[in-house]
Amino acid sequence: MNINRRFFLGIAGTMVGGALAVGPKKARAVRKPKAPSDPYGCLVDLTACVGCRKCEQACNRVNGLPAPQISFDDPRVLEHKRRPNATAYTVVNRHYTGKLDERNLLIPTFVKVQCMHCQDPACVSACIVGALTKKDNGAVHYDVSKCMGCRYCMVACPFQIPAYDYHDPLTPEVRKCSFCYDRISKEGGKPACAAICPVEALTFGKRSQIIDIARRRIKNDPGRYLNRLYGEYEVGGTSWLYISGEPFEKLGFLDLPSRPIPHLAESIQQGLFSYLWAPLSLFAILGGCMWTFNRKQTKENPEPERMEDNS
Ligand code: SF4
Ligand code: SF4
Ligand code: SF4
Repeated sequence: MNINRRFFLGIAGTMVGGALAVGPKKARAVRKPKAPSDPYGCLVDLTACVGCRKCEQACNRVNGLPAPQISFDDPRVLEHKRRPNATAYTVVNRHYTGKLDERNLLIPTFVKVQCMHCQDPACVSACIVGALTKKDNGAVHYDVSKCMGCRYCMVACPFQIPAYDYHDPLTPEVRKCSFCYDRISKEGGKPACAAICPVEALTFGKRSQIIDIARRRIKNDPGRYLNRLYGEYEVGGTSWLYISGEPFEKLGFLDLPSRPIPHLAESIQQGLFSYLWAPLSLFAILGGCMWTFNRKQTKENPEPERMEDNS
């Protein structure tokens, strides 16, 4: 039997789940994230976005992500709906809602997708080790040095945003848009995507001002915009906000309640606090098993000696 790290983590995960299901115990602590009072925000004007994907390219560059297989200039990418993932923290999708232009051609609406940087983020509630935190500037910040790879943030996120870097399960890394935390907190700049947008479809500023701007645009041009600001109230409000001329339901936006949804996240957290010792013991036992197995395997099947190149 070849017990590897992924297998070990799989068993450990299952047994931790089992431990959590054994029976009720009183939770020790629940940390409720506090929404910052004056965070930054970014308004996406879907009536202005032309789908050029310059924002994706800028995001890729500033985050040092690998180059995509299909170039940022290739429009074929828009033929399929995409989600942000470990190598693309933001993606732009094309939607057709049935609206026609004067030549009877379908008019596309382009939608940029990334972490919404929720005001009361479920991912933060779910993280028992504090690897995700909501910062005063609005960013939901990830600290890889604290992450234990449980991936509960992925389960808790109502927008299905956090992606997981599966390359090495023992050095886990959750990947998502950082709201360009360093650029906005240390350099006083804009997020790279907002800075590059050639048609000013992205407006960055204080969330309160962004909301005013959005309301003014809607009021001044009711023929262009629907009377809705997505993200103002959804799940307690988000730092990324959207205005549109097309119904949000037709553009892939989820119809979410206005109250924050940390319930699932907090029950996960409560469960883990209640049964913390059980999972830790199981991890220790399984860790011991894995070490013994690996040692036995090394003895039985020693690595072949490396051939020297004498040519
Ligand atoms: S850079 Fe601006 S216009 Fe281009 S796809 Fe991104 S948001 Fe839309
Ligand atoms: S969108 Fe998801 S990952 Fe981003 S802050 Fe909200 S809950 Fe967290
Ligand atoms: S804010 Fe920064 S990390 Fe987030 S999508 Fe824009 S460029 Fe990418």
